[in-house]
Amino acid sequence: MTSPIVRFAPSPTGKLHVGNVRTALINWLFAKGQGGKFILRVDDTDTERSTKAYEDQIKADLTWLGLEWDDTFNQSGKFAQYDAAADKLREMGLLYAAYETADELDRKRKIALSRGRPPVYDRSALNLSDEEKAKLEAEGRKPHWRFKLSGNRVEWKDLVRGPQSIDTSSVSDPVLIREDGSYLYTLPSVVDDIDAGITHVVRGEDHVTNSGAQIEIFRALGGTAPEMAHTPLLVDAEGGAFSKRLGSLDMGTLNGRGILPMAILSLLAKLGTSDNIEVRETLDALAADFDFSKIGRAPAKFDERDLLALNATLVHAMSFDAVKDQLAAISPEAANEAFWMAVRENCQTVQDAKPFADIAYGRIESLIDDEDAAFIAEAKMLLPAGEVTGESWGDWTSALKEKTGRKGRGLFMPLRKALTGQEHGPDMGTILPLIGREAIERRLSRA
Ligand code: GLU
Repeated sequence: MTSPIVRFAPSPTGKLHVGNVRTALINWLFAKGQGGKFILRVDDTDTERSTKAYEDQIKADLTWLGLEWDDTFNQSGKFAQYDAAADKLREMGLLYAAYETADELDRKRKIALSRGRPPVYDRSALNLSDEEKAKLEAEGRKPHWRFKLSGNRVEWKDLVRGPQSIDTSSVSDPVLIREDGSYLYTLPSVVDDIDAGITHVVRGEDHVTNSGAQIEIFRALGGTAPEMAHTPLLVDAEGGAFSKRLGSLDMGTLNGRGILPMAILSLLAKLGTSDNIEVRETLDALAADFDFSKIGRAPAKFDERDLLALNATLVHAMSFDAVKDQLAAISPEAANEAFWMAVRENCQTVQDAKPFADIAYGRIESLIDDEDAAFIAEAKMLLPAGEVTGESWGDWTSALKEKTGRKGRGLFMPLRKALTGQEHGPDMGTILPLIGREAIERRLSRA
């Protein structure tokens, strides 16, 4: 097989969320695993809704993820080519002017449905004479332009869904150009796919019906349709449709929460496949695992808890060098190797080190209730001698339990409140050596 050439084609009308990133990733893994090319196509034909700011953000996010592209272009720079393709289709009698308003089309759909017929456009525009068209235009109506489907079955072997067959007689002739002259995505996409020599169109299954029409347009314009792969869509953890919540999981938000690119990429690459969900350290490793045949037909459930678990695995293995700058941003004292080695097992994100740093190095207002004062005084006396280590907490609380008869919450909570100033917080065994003897003794003494 020749090396694949694929494209990821976002519209710059919003930020990249986990759903778009999954499509980009699957394209990237498939192409790169075989020495192919990954092209970033910016679908900005909708000049009203597209912005340069979103385009720049999309590029920054893909770069952050490591999904580098071999080439990129904007559809807004290619209108002359789309116009030429539209002219060619007109000459072939495959692109025809229609004048119905949205209301008229709606009425036709309702009538068809009430007669038990599928709500497919009836092609009445094809019967308009030149005089009738001229009259409509004189009334101020502008045409929109529809592609004339063959009415035959279009078949392809989808790399994810298997054999597909779309009966184009049961689909309305798609509008390719709106009455204001703007292009819908259907035609420009085909023109660009031919132009860029795209070998595989890989996208979400919401595009399956489009593929029927687009394959006919490929053929009409003299190209062969690329191979197609339509992946099931992402759903939320409860199995509900792609929700606002998932849509709001854009890369900036995830980065801000300390989620690492390889956690996102590992989850999105494995979700809905026959592989186990586990972390991989590089995109190349994910590419080596990739195969379309592993992608199942069921919707892929995206659960943020899986994302955090994968992130935690990566964070637990992160070296001090890799996190030094982030720790320094938390506090100067936190940027030390012993601190990181002690706390990293307790962190799902590097930011999770902050409460540890606050308690170890921050100014703490000890909380000692009157009824615990004697107990805390006892605790101060029983603090094991010598260096405070990972074992000290266990030794200390065992000795205190023996001496005072306290156990459970009554034993641990007064110590936590005195040493951290809070009722909740990080594991005391981990934090104790970081606080250090001097501060421990100070916090146990009532001011
Ligand atoms: N801009 C289109 C979308 O985001 C591209 C679809 C395609 O990959 O063909 O839905």
